[in-house]
Amino acid sequence: MALDEYRRKRRFDVTSEPEGKAVGRPPGSTRAAVSRLAFVVQKHRATALHYDFRLQWRGVMLSWAVPKGPSLDPATKRMAMPVEDHPIEYNGFEGIIPAGQYGGGTVMIWDRGTWTPEVPDVDAALAAGELKFSLAGEKLHGSWVLVRTGARPGQKRTAWLLIKHRDAWATKDDVAEKAPRSVVSNRLLVEIARDEGGDMKRAADGDPPAALRAILDQSDRPATTASGELTPARRRARPRTKAAGRPVPAKAPARASSAARAATTGARATPAARTAATGARATPAARAATTEARARSRKARRPD
Ligand code: MN
Repeated sequence: MALDEYRRKRRFDVTSEPEGKAVGRPPGSTRAAVSRLAFVVQKHRATALHYDFRLQWRGVMLSWAVPKGPSLDPATKRMAMPVEDHPIEYNGFEGIIPAGQYGGGTVMIWDRGTWTPEVPDVDAALAAGELKFSLAGEKLHGSWVLVRTGARPGQKRTAWLLIKHRDAWATKDDVAEKAPRSVVSNRLLVEIARDEGGDMKRAADGDPPAALRAILDQSDRPATTASGELTPARRRARPRTKAAGRPVPAKAPARASSAARAATTGARATPAARTAATGARATPAARAATTEARARSRKARRPD
């Protein structure tokens, strides 16, 4: 495992993705290090929308592209295509990959946290094509498995399946639909594209229509600001408790409402991240007007 393929595919004088340091002594070689292994899921609106699922192992992020994203329903197996190892620094990347570059489009840090192997030997499990592990993220929790499927003729890489195990965190709730925002900046894809100079129309295509409508509803409300600026309304509405917006493992009436809150407001951005998210590239009013106009024309073209 090395970053050669990752680096070969990218031009670091053009993209702001990290080049990645040399892979040093592998973490994960001691029991203490295993408990701090990072995982990240990056929602990536490139040629097609997908979720990049990454597990820290031996100094890199093992990576799979999951077209439909993780499902919390154990009955729903999600295809996961192995892609090149990524540098650990990539876990902090949220923003725009310039058009024409490898993976050009909008990247969101959709979930992150730590993972713990549920097998004694991760390398052996990977080689055998069945890795069981648990996740402690903000959206994803509990026990999961990645299973390699049989090789198909003509396919360069065989597909894996990402499957939730039955446990207290399993649910039929659609986490991609209900919690579509960045866990770092609380932004939708369209808001990342707006703030970072990306293609908003293309990015918005990866956001759930309900979340886009919620932005429009907020900007319509006179209670926000005279200019219709989006951020103050979101800031006021955002619950401050750390637990808000997370799925509740036991049966609890709070689940639906917290999921709904996460969908419309999110609950995880720090003040610093919010400041970073609102950015300083255009005036708030100009940004809001552009968002609104683009989203409206989009809505008009695609009646529900
Ligand atoms: Mn990707």
